[in-house]
Amino acid sequence: MSVEVPSDEELLTMTEPACYGDGMPSEGIRGGALHLSSVLPAVSNAIGCPMPTDIHSDPKGLQEALGLPDAASAVVVLVDGLGYWNLNMRLGHAPYLRSLMNESANQRPIATCMPSTTVAAMSTFGTGTCPGMTGMTGYTQLNPKTGEICQLISFRNAVPPLELQQQPTMFERLSAQGVRVTSSGLPKFAFSALTQAALRGSDYISNDDPRKRVAVAAQAAKNPGLTYLYLRDTDKVGHNYGWDSDKWIGTYERVDGQLGLLRRSVPKGTLIVIVADHGMITTDPESVIDIAQDQRLMQGVVHVGGEPRCVMLYAEQGEAPENIAARWRDVLGDRAQVRTRSQAIAEGVYGPVVSRVEPMIGDVIVSATKAVTIVDSRTQAEKAMHLPSVHGSLTMLESDIPCLIDVA
Ligand SMILES: [Zn+2]
Repeated sequence: MSVEVPSDEELLTMTEPACYGDGMPSEGIRGGALHLSSVLPAVSNAIGCPMPTDIHSDPKGLQEALGLPDAASAVVVLVDGLGYWNLNMRLGHAPYLRSLMNESANQRPIATCMPSTTVAAMSTFGTGTCPGMTGMTGYTQLNPKTGEICQLISFRNAVPPLELQQQPTMFERLSAQGVRVTSSGLPKFAFSALTQAALRGSDYISNDDPRKRVAVAAQAAKNPGLTYLYLRDTDKVGHNYGWDSDKWIGTYERVDGQLGLLRRSVPKGTLIVIVADHGMITTDPESVIDIAQDQRLMQGVVHVGGEPRCVMLYAEQGEAPENIAARWRDVLGDRAQVRTRSQAIAEGVYGPVVSRVEPMIGDVIVSATKAVTIVDSRTQAEKAMHLPSVHGSLTMLESDIPCLIDVA
């Protein structure tokens, strides 16, 4: 039996921000052991080299909570943008994933971080910690050194990756213990700023051909240790064509084919763990809010960061964040959840926040509800303001992610 998928409306309801730590989530509480940050610490224990982190002290407990068996060799696959519900709603196109979803152990989502976006999630995953510690809190955020907005996919206007993201990665810590850590990926990501920030420390093998990247991962898995494979096309095609498009389904079928090939190619006994960084929603062209069209939204705001589903507002000198938050609540009503930075930190939405990271986070954080997007036509290109599918907020679609387990 596969899982029952909630209604479209329910999938767009907001979840509570996930909590951080080793506990099993209870009624109404999400995250804890069942969180993206738990995956690599849990895998470290499964391969016999337990590696606690600043927010996860119990890798063995995490391994049990996620249901991972012990294995000498593990392959962790991260499929960009393939949320738990996105995956389940199109299972008819994915025979391998369908077979995994028939296993009761896989019939539960885990939570990604807030915001549900690649840079925040990759560093949360790669370090086994949280955005409050990695300093990667949004697609764009304030660079306190320059007082300008920087972008963290390519690190445009940002400080260098190792200066921003100071948490050791799981890959470098495992390598330092003599564990083999291999990444198989696109050549252009081998030395990218994002790889250096979030996933440094592996032996990175580049290949342009996706099926060869699978073969490289399977080959690496012959030796004990950890192998990492990144598949990005579901996110890319989702942004360009919509996750509900035929084009996305074609991509999903190819991804399933690559995962099935991996399963057939790894040596017997290899542990395979399939996760995502976030899911995706379909936007509504009627629900686009342009900050530049409303004086009340611009008032007192010097910079706008984040992304259309999770906007970060930086206050002008002398402006109280509470006043900005009050105006945005007035204007947006039920179209967004508005938190001041101090509220967000007190709620723990970024996990523990170290002091150097605090000024990077917006004075006010606005999470869009339903299919709403919040754009700024003063700084964003037409295409970026009207992407058919996006992510970043706290709906079930965006924040529930898979953690599928298979043993070859
Ligand atoms: Zn994306």
